Amino acid sequence: MTFLFPPHPTSVIPVQDSDHAFPVHRIYCVGQNYSDHVKEMGGDPRENPPVFFSKPSDAVVIGNQPVTYPPATADLHYEVELVVALASGGSDIDVEEALARVFGYAVGIDFTRRDLQAEAKKQGRPWDAAKGFDQSAPTSAIRSTNGGDHPLEGRISLSVNGETRQDAKLSDMIWSVPEIISELSKYYELKAGDLIFTGTPAGVSAVVAGDQIHAAIEGVGEIHFVLVAR
Ligand code: MN
Repeated sequence: MTFLFPPHPTSVIPVQDSDHAFPVHRIYCVGQNYSDHVKEMGGDPRENPPVFFSKPSDAVVIGNQPVTYPPATADLHYEVELVVALASGGSDIDVEEALARVFGYAVGIDFTRRDLQAEAKKQGRPWDAAKGFDQSAPTSAIRSTNGGDHPLEGRISLSVNGETRQDAKLSDMIWSVPEIISELSKYYELKAGDLIFTGTPAGVSAVVAGDQIHAAIEGVGEIHFVLVAR
């Protein structure tokens, strides 16, 4: 048999200071993982278990390329997040074993059509259209742990046109990286190539075409790009 049409290429993320590239398998995301953001969205951080959702792997945008403002929204929000890149996976992974699965970390933006998400929440509907659209996951190059360097304490921040909008510490996460990997692996068999977006701190808000977005995580890297009109 032959393909009816050429298969779509795998999304690939560069690795810092390396000729290697990271082929993306799936993109998992955690919602509501910083107390101050849960509060700003009207929730109670102590009552809510982690919320998992996903994006298509081809939603990744690399190389600080411009991101096109998506259709069907008038309220596009940025969310800066620590991205975990897995070197191996499994099911029912123990918390103590989880960090050994991590290849490295990146800075990612979980773009969200907030108006669609608000409507989905109100109607009890899925978040897919609010979260899983084209170009909804700009991601920096991945920084390898080099066998055990896990920078999970540092500052995570995002600015729009030079003005700081999000500024927090990774240590403010409600669910830690090992806890997220362990919990997620109860629902899915994790694989090498999986990315996990680990939630955003407070300060989310709308952006418009022409805005310059810069985000950084201490010890991990940075990303900067412009939002452009369709
Ligand atoms: Mn998010």
